[in-house]
Amino acid sequence: MKPLNWEGGFTLDVLDKMKDAALWSARHLSQMKAAYADQQAAEAVLADEDPVIYEFQELGVPETEGDLAFGAGVLHPGKIGDEFYMTKGHFHKKLETAEVYLGLSGEGLLLIESPDGTDSRVLEMKPMQAVYVPKGYAHRTINTGDEDLTYFFAFPAEAGHDYGTIELKGFRNLIIAADRGWKIVENPKWS
Ligand code: MN
Repeated sequence: MKPLNWEGGFTLDVLDKMKDAALWSARHLSQMKAAYADQQAAEAVLADEDPVIYEFQELGVPETEGDLAFGAGVLHPGKIGDEFYMTKGHFHKKLETAEVYLGLSGEGLLLIESPDGTDSRVLEMKPMQAVYVPKGYAHRTINTGDEDLTYFFAFPAEAGHDYGTIELKGFRNLIIAADRGWKIVENPKWS
């Protein structure tokens, strides 16, 4: 990762992947296969190729209280079985920290869920619409459209990421393709 001058401040073209290539990471299907409900469909795709599901910036903001981590994500369009391309989803390690997303292009959803799963909500993402993830809630973006879903995000830099809890128990609900775009169904594997 190239050094960024945090103390002096800086500017960043959040979507210029050519200029800021070193800051971008890609998540392939093979790295998150277990997140999808239809394992047979995932295996069938992986027999031919290992598509990039999403890309995001890792800026290396100091994880200290008072700092603000931010960046951009690009979630590509597609489906695994009936389920749309999505991010792995996570809680923050420091649970009591919120996050803001701002849609830049494309259309999709932000799935949020309280730690015990009793409160599960679907929030719409579209260009120049901000979405607030309350502190304590797990969150995952889902691309329900047919073009890239791109967005900006910002959260307290000390928040940290907990991917393991979602890997273990999943989200309570799944978003799958339907006649009128998408619908919410219960995740049979949720625990
Ligand atoms: Mn987050």
